Amino acid sequence: MSSQEFDGLVAVVTGGASGIGDSATRALQAKGAKVAVLDLNPANAATGAVQVQCDVADDASVQNAIDKVVAELGGIDVVINNAGIGAQGDVAANDDDEWHRVWDINVVGMVRVTRAALPYLRKSKHASVVNTCSIAATAGLPERVLYSATKGAILAMTRAMAADHLREGIRVNCVNPGTANTPWIGNLLSKAPDPEAERAALNARQPHGRLVEPDEVASAICYLASPLNASTSGVDLAVDGGMEALRLRPA
Ligand code: NAD
Repeated sequence: MSSQEFDGLVAVVTGGASGIGDSATRALQAKGAKVAVLDLNPANAATGAVQVQCDVADDASVQNAIDKVVAELGGIDVVINNAGIGAQGDVAANDDDEWHRVWDINVVGMVRVTRAALPYLRKSKHASVVNTCSIAATAGLPERVLYSATKGAILAMTRAMAADHLREGIRVNCVNPGTANTPWIGNLLSKAPDPEAERAALNARQPHGRLVEPDEVASAICYLASPLNASTSGVDLAVDGGMEALRLRPA
């Protein structure tokens, strides 16, 4: 068998049982990685992935999950911090409890997983962290104050962590998807009065006339995580059909 980019490497993918995380899991496997999926519902993870039940909002659950991955796969080289949830509305729409809940999953969840994996990343020769951010980090999306705040924090955190760990050979990058064709968006559309019309309108609002495919985001995640790109750190890579570069704004 010919050698592949991620041969001999172990990757952890949070939220890896659905959408972008599932695509990332399959792409990393196809490139030779052994993958552990940490998810609230890991049973739907890709065949061959190690399934680990984990709530990134619970520090003990994260620590147990990382211990399990290391016991089963021998170490951790790559962390894909992808688990995240949505939140809608203007600044008045969500109370303190909701702010804490979403922040705890989207932002502190990535901190918990990275912190628990750090001792193992330090032992790896190809250590890399990729955080799933969003165009919401910079775009000023309407009715998305809380969600945007979490993604802005992830972008800032990605750069700060890249600075901290570059000298010890741990790279930290993030990927910024535009609206992606995942179960999350499918569920939102299914609640619209006319889901097909809503999907068509959403497609029309994208610069390239369609939603971003999760496999396209996975491809960018693999690029950032790959040992072939060992000089790339602190980067946010847009996968949005050009929306941010063109300064376009979804309605
Ligand atoms: P999805 O809902 O299809 O999948 C998310 C997965 O995360 C699910 O398997 C879910 O079980 C898991 N998860 C949720 N909360 C968790 C928790 N507390 N602990 C562990 N696992 C948990 O979502 P998706 O659309 O694939 O989104 C994945 C990531 O991509 C999120 O961070 C999201 O903010 C980001 N993103 C999505 C879009 C989009 O349009 N879909 C755009 C930009 C960024």
